[in-house]
Amino acid sequence: MATHHTKMLIIGSGPAGYSAAIYGARAMLEPIVVQGLQPGGQLTITTDVENYPGFKDVIQGPWLMEQMQAQAEHVGTRMMWDTIVEVDLANGSPFRAIGDSGDEYIGETLVIATGAQAKWLGVPGEQELGGKGVSACATCDGFFYRGKKVVVIGGGNTAVEEALYLTNHSDDVTLIHRRDELRSEKILQERLFASDKITPLWNKTVERFVAGENGALDHLELRDTQTGEASTLQADGAFVAIGHAPATELFTGKLPMVDGGYLQVEPGTPKTEIPGVFACGDVMDHVYRQAVTAAGTGCMAALDAERFLATLEHAQKEAAE
Ligand code: FAD
Ligand code: NAP
Repeated sequence: MATHHTKMLIIGSGPAGYSAAIYGARAMLEPIVVQGLQPGGQLTITTDVENYPGFKDVIQGPWLMEQMQAQAEHVGTRMMWDTIVEVDLANGSPFRAIGDSGDEYIGETLVIATGAQAKWLGVPGEQELGGKGVSACATCDGFFYRGKKVVVIGGGNTAVEEALYLTNHSDDVTLIHRRDELRSEKILQERLFASDKITPLWNKTVERFVAGENGALDHLELRDTQTGEASTLQADGAFVAIGHAPATELFTGKLPMVDGGYLQVEPGTPKTEIPGVFACGDVMDHVYRQAVTAAGTGCMAALDAERFLATLEHAQKEAAE
């Protein structure tokens, strides 16, 4: 068991954590990134990424994250293959975190970049057809289904927004919901019902995603929640939109959270209510949830961490004089 000290402790190694590390390292904060169970974050489980600026051609998610890690290391970040299991924020800076390995991490500032995970239905075919017709992100993958038949599963804001977004690419969008009433905001419902490209399919659950001969999604097996009747629905793309779970269990009772368990920050900043603790990326953003926005808020967290330390140092100097 070892103790690691740093001016900037970053929990999480997705675009938010790595961007914070790049900025922190270049500000001589000698950051430590604790990578967690998914080094590189959510983009490591996707294939084509076409909307991250800087690349004319389609790039691969895992490759992009390897590049970000290499860049962060190149400018002086220390990577730790560990998962934080406990944090102590109660006494202010420096903050203490304990890893699964038993190691202790002491950070003068703390950047939380633990991300969020899409919730999945957990039915057969769903994981097997990930990247081959089944997705949890229409903004990311909708483009690949131009002119094709797509379905969205869910009845909340995310599902309705995904369905509306998909009408930019497809004239044949079906929204499958397990009840006959949407949970989403009324204004979104009005837009959905006004669209002649979207057909709601009520009282249906998905029991299985089935591949065709080419190995890609061919159809869904459905079950009516009222009658129990089974049916099938042909689709080229299926978007599961039943919610996201931010990775915030570590901070329960330690930091305020908003709707759905996302970390609360001062609007327009990554500042949490504890000075020196910052949250960036999907863990604090239930609206945009994109790699580029995660990277952007990671940058903001590092810049604010640097300012926090400069102010602290100034106050300490003044107190000593
Ligand atoms: P994440 O990428 O979720 O990373 C979180 C990190 O925190 C992980 O490294 C994890 O190991 C770590 N972590 C969690 N808990 C702990 C802990 N206790 N201790 C230590 N570490 C911890 N966005 C786009 O812009 N374009 C796309 O094409 C695109 N495609 C996508 C495809 C899929 C299938 C998915 C799921 C998402 C896609 N997204 C896309 C969304 C994008 O991946 C996310 O918005 C982005 O990854 C969020 O970055 P993040 O750094 O906030 O968190
Ligand atoms: P959500 O509000 O929790 O809705 C999830 C939807 O998925 C519900 O309709 C639910 O059905 C359905 N569902 C859940 N589990 C299911 C399962 N196993 N099988 C089938 N259907 C299932 O999640 P969300 O839509 O992602 O929204 C999360 C939060 O983010 C909300 O607070 C939302 O307001 C917010 N958000 C806001 C915006 C915005 O402001 N523009 C955009 C997106 C999200 P039931 O209705 O039957 O429970």
